[in-house]
Amino acid sequence: MTGAGETAGGSSPGQLNNGEQLNNSNGTGAGPAADAGPDPAAGEPVRYERRGPVALVTLNRPRYRNAQNSAMTYALDAAFARATDDDEVAVIVLAGAGDHFCAGHDIGSPGRDADQSFDRRAGLWWDHVGRAGADARFARETEVYLGMCRRWREMPKPSIAMVQGACIAGGLMLAWVCDLIVAADDAFFADPVLRMGIPGVEYFAHPWVLGPRFAREVLFTGQRFGARRAYEAGMVNRVVPRAELTATAFELAGEIAAMPPFGLALAKRAVNQCEDLMGMRPGMEAVFGLHHLAHAHNAETSGDSLGGQDARSMRQAGR
Ligand code: ZN
Repeated sequence: MTGAGETAGGSSPGQLNNGEQLNNSNGTGAGPAADAGPDPAAGEPVRYERRGPVALVTLNRPRYRNAQNSAMTYALDAAFARATDDDEVAVIVLAGAGDHFCAGHDIGSPGRDADQSFDRRAGLWWDHVGRAGADARFARETEVYLGMCRRWREMPKPSIAMVQGACIAGGLMLAWVCDLIVAADDAFFADPVLRMGIPGVEYFAHPWVLGPRFAREVLFTGQRFGARRAYEAGMVNRVVPRAELTATAFELAGEIAAMPPFGLALAKRAVNQCEDLMGMRPGMEAVFGLHHLAHAHNAETSGDSLGGQDARSMRQAGR
């Protein structure tokens, strides 16, 4: 059993995992989503709702277990910006629609859009579209993965990830950028991208959020770990029955919302600064280079920066 995100019955054509590959022939259509056809119920990739002082931001591609394509990334960014700008919002709760929080980056759904341009937000770099090899890959992943995650971590309002079911690879990145994590007892986590020859997802927070010893186990084995183990490692704040997930997250959000907003922003920044003084930011920057070395090695030796893996193979390996 490992972390490729598959759970209920295997009928869900969700995608998983790590960084996409540009010009990857295993890309669109490689996963079971190819025979699933367009999703008539597909709406906005992210839903936004305000409930009192809480902004509820919901990943909304449940048919694909909320696999993150770029459209979702930029919709998520817009939702976080909206919550930041709304003075009525004190706390942001990030949720996933359906049975799973997020199965990872989109490496195979019909909505996979790694070859498309979006208005860049995370930093100043050129567009990846029209470029080749590591040039394209580095540009895209710097923007949509590492850059966006850092940007979201630095939102001045506290955030809570509300996690049920699969939280795999790129899904971990979304949970980790939140300040607190409330997990249902059916939540499970994994970063299985070593199967692709890649030493972890782009936002390499593992040693800081798991501790070095458990981080090695998670990376080396790719195995899933459950909500209780995540709690023991200090990665999540609460583990509750699935039926109590939303109530618990909103209760916690309500307690936080009673605090002074500027004080919260400063406390959040204080912890972030100290994490970075413990080496998180420069460590992550250094490992991003190793991540891209692995992509490039794969591309050089096999012509596929994901090492021959796709959504289907990763899911099957993760069972
Ligand atoms: Zn990558």
